[in-house]
Amino acid sequence: MRALLAGNWKMNGSKASLGEIRALGRAFADEAPPGDVLICPPATLIGEALRASAGSVIAIGGQDCHPEPAGAFTGDISAEMLRDAGATSVIVGHSERRQYHAETSQVVAAKAMAAHRASLYAIVCVGETESERVAGRAIDVVTGQLADSVPLGFGSSQVAIAYEPVWAIGTGRTPTAAEIHEMHAAIRKALRATNGADSAAIRILYGGSVKPENAADILAIPDVDGALVGGASLRAADFLRIVRAAPRR
Ligand code: PEP
Repeated sequence: MRALLAGNWKMNGSKASLGEIRALGRAFADEAPPGDVLICPPATLIGEALRASAGSVIAIGGQDCHPEPAGAFTGDISAEMLRDAGATSVIVGHSERRQYHAETSQVVAAKAMAAHRASLYAIVCVGETESERVAGRAIDVVTGQLADSVPLGFGSSQVAIAYEPVWAIGTGRTPTAAEIHEMHAAIRKALRATNGADSAAIRILYGGSVKPENAADILAIPDVDGALVGGASLRAADFLRIVRAAPRR
């Protein structure tokens, strides 16, 4: 299936960073990327990012959304607001949201439902901590998060899964290719049981210290259908090398 290369800028970026999006857009005007390209800047930049990416293949997404469409939730942003701003996708359940905002998988599922309600493609993140992996519980933890975070019956046009081991995010460390393959195969099997006929087409992204240097090896692993990239998505030159490393399927 066609890969998705998604950049998560987290709480980084200002108007000065929009040049990175323009640079990506210029590169993809000359060469069609091997997969779909998505940048998720902070919400303050979504409008400007859309203008910077206009006429290019780059899509713009949000990093989080509230389950409710509107209301007295100071500081929050709804899926409908992201859609209204021009976003086409939203990340939900990132481990930093689970850790720093105490988001449970049930809250993540409600956010995925909200994304669907607003016609946004949801990227649902799951991943084990280092101690869970050392204890041999990684697959149980991740498939448990998956069962609770992904609404039953969601199909490939509604959701992608991002497997992001918490200990690999921003650390420069990655699982082995065999560990990534084992986890992605376990996720695929679990999706088959709960999400039916279309589950083989649901994209399963890998995230956690994807860099230009390791992207080709990671993106070639079976059942890895793209990448969610944090730090290395901030500079067009780095992200471009990652996008180019994706197999053309
Ligand atoms: C992320 O936060 O989704 C991520 C994968 O970060 P990094 O690429 O910096 O490890």
